[in-house]
Amino acid sequence: MIKLYDTKQRRKVDFIPREEGKVSMYVCGPTVYNRIHLGNARTFISFDMIRRYFEWRGYNVTFVQNVTDVDDKIIAKASEEGRSAADVAKEYTEAFIADMHAAGVAAPTIRPKATEEIDAMIALVQKLIDKGHAYAKEGDVYFDVRSDAHYGSLSGRNIDEMEAGHRELRADGKGVEDRKRDPLDFALWKAAKPGEPSWESPWGLGRPGWHIECSAMSEKYLGLPIDIHGGGADLIFPHHENECAQSECAYDGAFSRYWMHSGMLQINSEKMSKSLGNFLLLHQVLEEARPLALRMLMLQTHYRSPLDFSMERIDEANSALSRIETALENMAWLCKNAQTDAPSALDEKDIEAVVEQTREDFTSAMDDDFNAPAALGCIFTLVGHMNTTLAGKTLSDKDAVCTKHASNLIKELLGVLGMKIEDKTSASYPEETISLAADMADYTGENTNEALSALIEARTSAKAAKDWAKADAIRDGLIELGFIIEDTPQGAKVTYAG
Ligand code: AMP
Ligand code: ZN
Repeated sequence: MIKLYDTKQRRKVDFIPREEGKVSMYVCGPTVYNRIHLGNARTFISFDMIRRYFEWRGYNVTFVQNVTDVDDKIIAKASEEGRSAADVAKEYTEAFIADMHAAGVAAPTIRPKATEEIDAMIALVQKLIDKGHAYAKEGDVYFDVRSDAHYGSLSGRNIDEMEAGHRELRADGKGVEDRKRDPLDFALWKAAKPGEPSWESPWGLGRPGWHIECSAMSEKYLGLPIDIHGGGADLIFPHHENECAQSECAYDGAFSRYWMHSGMLQINSEKMSKSLGNFLLLHQVLEEARPLALRMLMLQTHYRSPLDFSMERIDEANSALSRIETALENMAWLCKNAQTDAPSALDEKDIEAVVEQTREDFTSAMDDDFNAPAALGCIFTLVGHMNTTLAGKTLSDKDAVCTKHASNLIKELLGVLGMKIEDKTSASYPEETISLAADMADYTGENTNEALSALIEARTSAKAAKDWAKADAIRDGLIELGFIIEDTPQGAKVTYAG
C-alpha cells in the first residue's frame, strides 16, 4: 500500500485511487515567459519520480500538466521586447519542453494550454456566478471568498486573519481592490486592457485569471475528483486554495482526493525564485552537469524537504553516480568473461536473497511517501555488497547469472527513479581512440568501440611477442584518453573513466 503525505489532511495517509489500478494526476505547469530555473525543475523532477513509481507499481497514470501561456508576466515581457504575447509564450513553451526532455522528465499524457481552453474557463466562471459564488464588476469577475464555507481549509488559514494575497493595480492606476466586495476576493476573469490578448465573454472582452485554468482543465481532462493535485509548496496559497474553492463550489464535491507539494529548492537557505534574482536556469546547469547527476542530487533529499543547491553538491552526486556505474561496468565485464569450466566463486543463494531483499526494501521506502533518499540507500547497499563479493573473483557461468540479476535490478530501480544508466557505447569513447588504433593497431575503421578492441588485441599480441615498448605505448595512449586498464588472469580489463 502506498502512503503519501496529504497537504490538506496534514498527515501521511493510504493512497486509495478513485478507480482501481488508475491514477489521475494534475501538476501545475510553468508560466512561459522565461527558461525554467532549477527550483521549477525540482518540482517537476519530484512529480516525475512519483509518476514513474506509480507506473512501476502497476498503476495506469494519466498525468496532466498545463502551460500558462497568457499572464501578466508574459504580456510585460512581450511589450518590453516589442513582440506579441503569443510569440513569447510559443518560444518559452518550446524551450520548456526541450528543458524537460533534457532533464529526463517524461512528457505528460496531456499538456493543455490556457489559451486553447478559454471556453471551458468561461463556462466555469458562468457556473460560479449562477450559483452565487462569483460576481461581475466592470468587466471583471471575482470569486466571492466569503461564499465558500471551506475557504482556507487546504492551507490551514483562517479567513478572518487573512490578508489579501496580492494587490493588483488597474492600468489607470486605480486600485482593483475597490472593485472587489472583499479584499480577499480574487479575479476569475479580467477585463481587457488595450493591446492585451483578449477573448469575447459574457462580461465583455477579457482574459482568464490564473487560478481558473487549472480548475477547468482538471475537470475537463480528468473528471472530478481527481486523485492527486500537485505542485511546489509555494502554490498552496493562494493558487491551490483558490483552485480548490472554485472547483468545490462549482461542482459541490471534492476537487482532489489528495494534495501533494514538493519542498523548495534553495540557494544559501533562500528560496530560488525569479523575483529574488538568485536563480540558475536548468539548461545552464545541464551544460555543466549530467542530467543523471542533477537527478541524483535532487533525489538524495526527500521531495518534501527543502533542498540546498550548490555546484559542489552536484559534483558529489556525480561521484556517487559514478560509483554505481563503475560497479555495473565491473559486473558486465566479469559476466562477459565468465568461464564455463570455472569453479563457482559465489554463494548464489546469498546473492539472490540480497537481490530480493533490495527489491523489498526499495519498495517499502518508496511506498512510504516516495522516500527516494532511502530507496537510493537500498541501491547503494546492493552495489556495496556486490563490490565486496566480486572483488578478485573469476566467475563461472552460474555465478554470472546471479550477478546479472543483481546488476539488472540496480538498473531497473534506478530507472524507476528516472535514472536510466546507458550501456557504454562507442559514442561515449573519445574520437582519438580511432587515431590511436590507426597508429598502433593498423585499424582502418571509424568506430571507437572497434578501435578499442583492436588496441586491446594489439597490446595482447605485443606482450605475447615480448614487444614491451609497444605494449606500454598502447597502454599509455589509452590512459591518456581516459581509459583505466587492469591486467587480470582473464586478460586486460579496460573501463572508460571519461
Ligand atoms: P511558476 O512558473 O512560478 O508557476 O512555477 C512552476 C512550478 O515550479 C510550480 O510548481 C512552483 O511551485 C515550482 N517552484 C517555483 N520555485 C521553486 C523552488 N524554488 N523550489 C521548488 N519548486 C519551485
Ligand atoms: Zn494550477
